[in-house]
Amino acid sequence: TQSPVTVLGLGLMGSALAAALLKAGHATTVWNRTAAKTGPLAAQGATPAVTAKDAIEAAPLVIVCLTTNDNVRALLEPEATALKGRTVVNLTNGSPAQARELADWAAAHGITYIDGGIMAVPQMIATPGAYILYSGRDEAAFATHRETLSALADTKWVGTDPGLAALYDLSLLTGMYGMVMGVSQAYALIGSEGIPAREFAPLLTDFIVAMTHGLVPGGAEALDSGRHLTDVSNLAMNRQAFANFTSAFNEQGLRTDLFDPLQDLLDRAVEQGHGADGLSRLALLLKKD
Ligand code: NDP
Repeated sequence: TQSPVTVLGLGLMGSALAAALLKAGHATTVWNRTAAKTGPLAAQGATPAVTAKDAIEAAPLVIVCLTTNDNVRALLEPEATALKGRTVVNLTNGSPAQARELADWAAAHGITYIDGGIMAVPQMIATPGAYILYSGRDEAAFATHRETLSALADTKWVGTDPGLAALYDLSLLTGMYGMVMGVSQAYALIGSEGIPAREFAPLLTDFIVAMTHGLVPGGAEALDSGRHLTDVSNLAMNRQAFANFTSAFNEQGLRTDLFDPLQDLLDRAVEQGHGADGLSRLALLLKKD
């Protein structure tokens, strides 16, 4: 028989996690602040708990997925006694510092803490391609629960600094949000002449994929070797070309808010004497002095 698991927080993500555990045959106890959300899971075989304490006491492994880490802290702090000797896997999105603070708090109360970052939307849970990043001071505890956790998604252990899962998670999402900014602007620009987004989408997809395959590994190579000089596309040229975007957006009646900071960054790069370097240099200019 599969080991019992508790899930605290049954929002879109928590509900998907609990459903995946049930499907994999785990006795699953669920709790949510708004009790009504336990209904659909109870129908799938979960045991609803009336209080968070009851839920915690039902299993050695407690998975938490709330909106923010402040919510997690507020929920778990009063339950330190019940949590003692158990493993908390916190899959709430947060910052590395928040994860380290929660790990410190847990360690002080005899609780094993593993932080996680879910690289999937709820619909992708328990399907191929989804994975969850994990980090925590007690790698052996992770090994103990790895098989159970693999019912949710592929597991990727990233290290014994508890902040690392959040660091990887936010770094990956940063790449995604950059793409969101680019795609939003691209659709706005093409749409300014009434061209349907559907018609433009295949071109945009192919171009982004082609650029990604060059830019991401190329940037990594330059950053790790410290060699940013390029014969592909240097910062001085990009800086000049950038004015065309601002002009075109203004001419087409569009806002340039998302482009403006990149223009500033390119100006700064050239002013600091990096005009012959490639775009890889920009990452270094984001360090605060
Ligand atoms: P939802 O808004 O659907 O659910 C939020 C959950 O948090 C609810 O169960 C809510 O309870 C609970 N909650 C909020 N505040 C408190 C509190 N003070 N005390 C107790 N419970 C509280 O969000 P998701 O499920 O989508 O997201 C949960 C986490 O997963 C977030 O950190 C999110 O960033 C992360 N995540 C989500 C992804 C997604 O695509 N949805 C993808 C990857 C990560 P109640 O029902 O009572 O309001």
